[in-house]
Amino acid sequence: MKRQNIIVIGGGASGILAAIIARRNQANVTILERNIKIGKKILATGNGRCNFTNATATENDYNHPEFVSKAFQAFSPVKTFAFFEELGIAPKVEDLGKAYPLSEQASSIVDVLVYELNQLGVKIVTEAYVKEIKKSNNLFTVTLDNGNTYTADKVILSTGGKAMPSSGSDGSGYQLAKTIGHHTTHIFPALVKLKLESPYLKHLDGVKFPGRVELIHRNLVLQEEQGDILFTKSGISGPTILQLSRKANAFLAQKEEVWVKVILVNLLTRKDVEKRLSLSLNKPIDFSLVGLIHKKIIPSILKEAGIHNPSMLVSSVPSKEKNKLVNLLFDWKFLVKESHGFEDAQVTAGGIQISEIDRETMESKLVKGLYFTGEIIDIDGLCGGYNLQWAWSSAYLAGMHASS
Ligand SMILES: Cc1cc2nc3c(=O)[nH]c(=O)nc-3n(C[C@H](O)[C@H](O)[C@H](O)COP(=O)(O)OP(=O)(O)OC[C@H]3O[C@@H](n4cnc5c(N)ncnc54)[C@H](O)[C@@H]3O)c2cc1C
Repeated sequence: MKRQNIIVIGGGASGILAAIIARRNQANVTILERNIKIGKKILATGNGRCNFTNATATENDYNHPEFVSKAFQAFSPVKTFAFFEELGIAPKVEDLGKAYPLSEQASSIVDVLVYELNQLGVKIVTEAYVKEIKKSNNLFTVTLDNGNTYTADKVILSTGGKAMPSSGSDGSGYQLAKTIGHHTTHIFPALVKLKLESPYLKHLDGVKFPGRVELIHRNLVLQEEQGDILFTKSGISGPTILQLSRKANAFLAQKEEVWVKVILVNLLTRKDVEKRLSLSLNKPIDFSLVGLIHKKIIPSILKEAGIHNPSMLVSSVPSKEKNKLVNLLFDWKFLVKESHGFEDAQVTAGGIQISEIDRETMESKLVKGLYFTGEIIDIDGLCGGYNLQWAWSSAYLAGMHASS
């Protein structure tokens, strides 16, 4: 078997793993990374702890399960745990299957990966911004912005998407792919804060509470999430909202109206709340809500219910306004204006069209010898270790097949 010369463009999660696998399979591998170091984005993952996989992840957690299935068969979360254990990472699995290194330091993940690359003798060229890929006579020529060129039998394109461009993934990979014949779907930010239409945001900014949120389109619930919710000065955030954001943005792109419904009182029923109010008839209406919802929300929700005097006794509040108030505690709807941009997003939705990639190998169907990994492909998952798992799984396939 001929020893393959492989260039991996992008030293992020998927590029690094693809390089390790290809090198272990005897290929000569060079990583070209535009930053001064590889693995920059990994350091920012999981709030600096790197949620490197999810023990419960299956192909069904992604936007194109069928496409993902082969990569998961080849490199499942179980294989990810084993791979990182072998490199020295003791895992810590938290709620909902989220896995972190026991050190709780994302830098541990980068450290063990870099160590392995060095042990294997993978060549790493940093400050190498790739501007062009060309193929002729079965040989790829990769050109940097400083004019330097590299040649290879195979190229693995691991440049990521557009999320957090300060990490180096600025979307230039899409352009590289387009110039050699590939196409992308509509690309938009996901796992990102939402901007809301509401006069109350100034007062609610910074309020964090556990509750439930639903994404509503034409009175239908599209998605429901439970957990921490955080109001910001322009809208809403928190893990629950990040999870809804992909669907919200997909509908907004179609110029469809979507609403976020906030359920402030999660653990009590409407009847329970009505009973509480009936036992507080001699208390001011604002005080009757203390102990039920976050104090900073009370003035805004009273206004929204049409109760303009917060010290009015519960017994004096007209039943129409009282009913509205109880309704709002279980159903406070906010129109979604837009989301924050790629700077604040954790992942890119959309990417290189999956119809142009062989799901068994990650090889381009249009350009033989060209492979894709990770976020550049039109695959994304929820928050919780799913996107890195995709990076590893797709990289494993590309690394294996490019080197065979
Ligand atoms: C703040 C944040 C937190 C996250 N937390 C998690 C988490 O805890 N768990 C999880 O599963 N996912 C998380 N993600 C998502 C996850 O990090 C990505 O999906 C994953 O890193 C994608 O890997 P990748 O290899 O495709 O791309 P990237 O990791 O983005 O790597 C791409 C690399 O290519 C380089 N590059 C780009 N263009 C060029 C070029 N033209 N020439 C040379 N080099 C180039 C870039 O500099 C970069 O190093 C998070 C993302 C963000 C932004």
